[in-house]
Amino acid sequence: MILATKTFFPPLEEYQVQLQRIWKNEWITNRGELVLELEDKLKSYLGVSSILITNNGTIPLQIALKLMAKNAEVITTPYSYVASTSTIVWENCTPVFVDIDPEYATIDERLIENSITSKTTAILATHLYGNACNIEAIEAIAKKHQLKVIYDAAHCFGTQYKNQSIFNYGDISTCSFHATKIFHTGEGGAAFCNNPDFIKQVYYSHNFGHNGYLDFHGLGINGKITELQAAMGLSVLPYMEFITTERKKVVDYYNQQLDFSKVAKFKWRDETSENYTYYPLIFQSEKHLLEVENALQAVDIFPRRNFFPALNTLNYIKNVAMKHSDDIVSRTMCIPLSVGLAEADLALICKIINSK
Ligand SMILES: *Cc1c(COP(=O)(O)O)cnc(C)c1O
Repeated sequence: MILATKTFFPPLEEYQVQLQRIWKNEWITNRGELVLELEDKLKSYLGVSSILITNNGTIPLQIALKLMAKNAEVITTPYSYVASTSTIVWENCTPVFVDIDPEYATIDERLIENSITSKTTAILATHLYGNACNIEAIEAIAKKHQLKVIYDAAHCFGTQYKNQSIFNYGDISTCSFHATKIFHTGEGGAAFCNNPDFIKQVYYSHNFGHNGYLDFHGLGINGKITELQAAMGLSVLPYMEFITTERKKVVDYYNQQLDFSKVAKFKWRDETSENYTYYPLIFQSEKHLLEVENALQAVDIFPRRNFFPALNTLNYIKNVAMKHSDDIVSRTMCIPLSVGLAEADLALICKIINSK
């Protein structure tokens, strides 16, 4: 059986070495030695000035919305993982959907200003599939209208935009270290923010609002990650170069062997590096997509319609039709991409797709 994604497992002995440190320290959570070490190592690996590791990639979105969006309207994309909309609703804000640019699959910056009202406080945009939004345009709009920019950068581990980490953009960027993501801690995530005052607020918020042992800065929630998860991160991180190289091989194979007169790819944003997290394909129609999906499933290969259904169609959202997103989401599917896929399997996947 071949799934669309496969979790990378570091050698067990290397995880055990990290676990031994935890047993020796007798310290399992509340920002122990391993969490601090992982933050340090990620800072230099990613080239960011600040990072706060959290227990998943959803909680930093919630915290950012709580601190910045303030129960108001948040402009967002209909094409993303459910967390980028559910967090807006969870934080008592109202998602205002702006259609995607069908070429890039990211929010269409040309349509944002039309949706701004006196109640808008923030823009929450996703760098979908690791492809950057139009960062400069969004920044200019936000500045003009005094809005905060929150980037859901869950797919962007290692992505460089204009020669620096993409996490450096926006008022805050968040990442996910979930097991299905390219770098993982099982469950985990992070917030990145270059404003020292703001990252401090996020820090307080992720630890119940504690300011030291006996004092409270303000309202908070529990977003702390454990040493056990940091141990996984410390064991996976040394393999990132290997993981990226292996995934690139798969991507190169697909790029060479797929028949692009039948399927299409999204355009990649200029000056944005690829991290090979997903391989989304746009089919001619949903019918075409389903034909390919059925043919692959018949031989135990499971592609994935990753961000289906579109978020404007969730049952707790007032559905507004989105011309491009409704169309693109209905006919886009990710094909298997992971470390260790055999060439024979890749050949079979391409043969089946090319035959439909
Ligand atoms: C994975 C993902 C999340 C959620 O991250 P978790 O770590 O699973 O909480 C949020 N947004 C997007 C776009 C994602 O793909």
